[in-house]
Amino acid sequence: MQTKEQEMILVIDFGGQYNQLIARRVRECGVYCEIISYRASLDKIKAKNPKGIIFTGGPNSAYLEDSPTIDPEIYTWGVPVLGICYGSQLMMHMLGGNVCIAPEREYGKTVVDLDVTSPMFSGLSDKNVCWMSHNDYIETAAPGFEIVAHTPNCPVAAAQDKARGLYCVQFHPEVLHTDNGTKMLSNFVYNVCGCAGTWKMDSFVEETVKALKAKIGSGKVLCALSGGVDSSVCAAMLAKAIGKQLTCVFVDHGLLRKNEREEVCSVFGEGGQFDSNFICVDARERFYGKLKGVSAPEGKRKIIGEEFIRVFEEEAKKIGAVDYLAQGTIYPDVVESGLGGESATIKSHHNVGGLPDFVDFKEIVEPLRDLFKDEVRQAGRELGLPEYLVARQPFPGPGLAIRIIGEVTPEKVAIVQDADAIYREEVDKLPAAERPSQYFAALTNMRSVGVMGDERTYDYAIALRAVTTTDFMTAEVTMLPPATITTAANRIVNEVKHINRVLFDYTTKPPATIEFE
Ligand code: GLN
Repeated sequence: MQTKEQEMILVIDFGGQYNQLIARRVRECGVYCEIISYRASLDKIKAKNPKGIIFTGGPNSAYLEDSPTIDPEIYTWGVPVLGICYGSQLMMHMLGGNVCIAPEREYGKTVVDLDVTSPMFSGLSDKNVCWMSHNDYIETAAPGFEIVAHTPNCPVAAAQDKARGLYCVQFHPEVLHTDNGTKMLSNFVYNVCGCAGTWKMDSFVEETVKALKAKIGSGKVLCALSGGVDSSVCAAMLAKAIGKQLTCVFVDHGLLRKNEREEVCSVFGEGGQFDSNFICVDARERFYGKLKGVSAPEGKRKIIGEEFIRVFEEEAKKIGAVDYLAQGTIYPDVVESGLGGESATIKSHHNVGGLPDFVDFKEIVEPLRDLFKDEVRQAGRELGLPEYLVARQPFPGPGLAIRIIGEVTPEKVAIVQDADAIYREEVDKLPAAERPSQYFAALTNMRSVGVMGDERTYDYAIALRAVTTTDFMTAEVTMLPPATITTAANRIVNEVKHINRVLFDYTTKPPATIEFE
């Protein structure tokens, strides 16, 4: 939660692809950062009391009539501004420079000549590889600005007006393809904006626990715990703040990964780390019963979604009225729901809006609303959660049901659980940096002939998946070391009954999805 004293940098979003990355990088420098749409009024921006402002890139051309723009008072109000790409072009265009279509567009890694006497580039050397992505360029800088970087194709790759605290860069310091990009952002927030760097996860956890205590008082809170990273950290934060006033409900729908229920129960249940109420609902039979005979993917998803709500509703009724409902909404959910930045309406997130109307509560609490995923994991570690909870991969709500092609049966669930556990165990032996973003096993509905101990078998084929992605909208196949795959495959056919064949899925997303159904 942003407290009034918390120093912050405000990112003004003009629709750039990398807007969240800018905020993350600034936070990595130890300074709290939020994203706001360029449509926000100047009063709203001022009310945030930022120490500095960053304009993002964007798809438009600054010199066109209908392009996103901003109240010109932003330049004279006394808070430093850094424009990136579109943001730099907009600043120059508004202040009297000339921006037009470039004779030669630049895309990709480009060597940029830097004037290292600029406070933005201090500590760097005079040639730096930077990431460029633009069709337009700044032909001439606005009056009062000095040019502090250029490339052969780009006469103004960076410019500054120190007196007014205005800075701009044509390239993208926020992407990793720009060498020393984080250093440049750090230079801006420390050397130019004079930030002190007080944003740390331990202080965040401490402050939030304090704020939750004050807000909730003696009230009762209900939290639906899925066992995923966000809901676990959310529950841990509340448990630490209010102990017994919190009740967590965890539903075992029989479609969880191997040992997952035990892992969650050992942390949140009796004898665990926290002193709050914990209800584990064993709804396995109920879900298996409903899923019997259903093989269509959408049918399975629908049944699981509805049944889940029904189970949760029954538990909520038993608990009765509560004061608050806790949700593990995180910052990207907020931004992507159009409540933060400009990437708006990409998807409305299930955590934001769409509240269960059967729970009798007065208000929602979302203690992780300001955090990025890696910060949530960090907060979880601060709260003492075990690594297997905080480092967990994303896992779909319908669980293993959509990793079993066709009808779901308890036997098939056990097969995929065992194979998946072995595969993950093998991949987890790789150094963290070499592990894919997501890796799991799925049970194909295909059976084929094999031979084991001189005997003919006719059993299932399991598929292994490994993908690398940053946003889960697109994904690349991860080329795992051959030894990892062959060891996993050998172990699976040896240790898991009813599997006699292991396949590897080499499809990217698109055209395939990451999950199988
Ligand atoms: N649309 C502008 C250009 O093409 C800015 C691009 C950007 O911000 N990445 O130059």
